[in-house]
Amino acid sequence: MAKTLIYKFGGASVKDSAAVKNLTEILRNRLRKNMVVVVSAMGKTTNSLESILSKKLNGEDFSENSAILKLFHQEICRELFPEGHSVFPQLDNLFFHLNNLLEKKLSRENYDEFYDSIVGFGELVSSRIVAEYLCSQSLIVLWQDAREVIHTDSDFRFAKIDWEKTRNSCQASWKPILENFPILTQGFIGSDPKGRSTTLGREGSDFTAAILAKSLDAGSVTIWKDVPGVLNADPKLFPNTRKFEELGYREAAEMTYFGASVIHPKTIKPLANAGIPLFVKSFLDPEAPGTKIHANAASHHVPTIVLKKDQILVSFKVTDFTFIEEKHIHRVYEQLQALKLRVNMLQLSAISISIVIDAQLFKLEQLLEKLKSEFEIRYNEGLELLTILHPKQEEIPTFLEGFEILLEQASRNTFQVVRRKV
Ligand code: ASP
Ligand code: MG
Repeated sequence: MAKTLIYKFGGASVKDSAAVKNLTEILRNRLRKNMVVVVSAMGKTTNSLESILSKKLNGEDFSENSAILKLFHQEICRELFPEGHSVFPQLDNLFFHLNNLLEKKLSRENYDEFYDSIVGFGELVSSRIVAEYLCSQSLIVLWQDAREVIHTDSDFRFAKIDWEKTRNSCQASWKPILENFPILTQGFIGSDPKGRSTTLGREGSDFTAAILAKSLDAGSVTIWKDVPGVLNADPKLFPNTRKFEELGYREAAEMTYFGASVIHPKTIKPLANAGIPLFVKSFLDPEAPGTKIHANAASHHVPTIVLKKDQILVSFKVTDFTFIEEKHIHRVYEQLQALKLRVNMLQLSAISISIVIDAQLFKLEQLLEKLKSEFEIRYNEGLELLTILHPKQEEIPTFLEGFEILLEQASRNTFQVVRRKV
């Protein structure tokens, strides 16, 4: 049997009924048995679920938000299916279930577990709709719940994969199905040893595709996006971008590490270890070659720009006239780890530790609470972290103009600034 192919369609490729129809056309000549199609939540659904959660956490009324979310999916279905189609009661059922879960008690202590029980819901609804629509178009796929094969630990919101168990489930449960049918499933979600829902981190559906690829010994993964491939900068933010024909695994991994959102950072490693090529292709131009990420790509020196928005710069100053020592760094990192806050940039001076993190204000509050007796802490919100790989020295000033620069770091191959528009 030919090797398994994995296709992944992100939120933008299923954002409305036209997008679902477009996905269907892409699959019309490509769908075959021994293929797994992974889909994300539709459009901005995951963000909507997150705002429902934060309303709930703050004791505000979220019923309008969940009604709007249901309406959004119903509208898409009205445009895809005839009246009376069985997809409509399925939607009712799923939203009934969501609203039941939302009735449960939420506190800051159980936030992460609660979050995971709710936020993967977008994928469950989306995959139902897409599977039903494909079948209605004579493209027969079998809907499968990814949580039955993606096994993780209980580190909610950032669950770690149990690779052995996942491989065993994929081989035992999905391989036999794939001999006869393609599977349609969800990205982003898994389950812990107690069967509770977990998630793999925001934008984690790419990672799901890679996990399935490795566990099914796939021939390749294709991620379908709204860009022509991997570009050297986000075309929505920078002019004159260039597309890479091919990239090495290491270069691609480095770009994602600094925040390039084209692929989830964890996607590359399992594929690189198994030597499985990754194609990034445009769902708007499916015949175009896109970018191939693989082991034998030629190296390049094209400046590559990555911008991370909504950053917070936090600095911790020692209060007792001593200097920064390992123990101070250890204290700060210990708390960051406990709160699952990742450091995007670090700078040390004689008397302070500065870190840049994604804006998650209620976690920041907890961090301040924990460390305020040991450090004098200041923070700045509303910042951007700009990283340039292979920078051209003469071009750097153009990235600083019109910005207040709060922090700057340069090495031979990387230039980084924390900046704010003035
Ligand atoms: N729907 C999830 C998110 O928006 C996962 C994904 O799209 O990859 O983060
Ligand atoms: Mg998404």
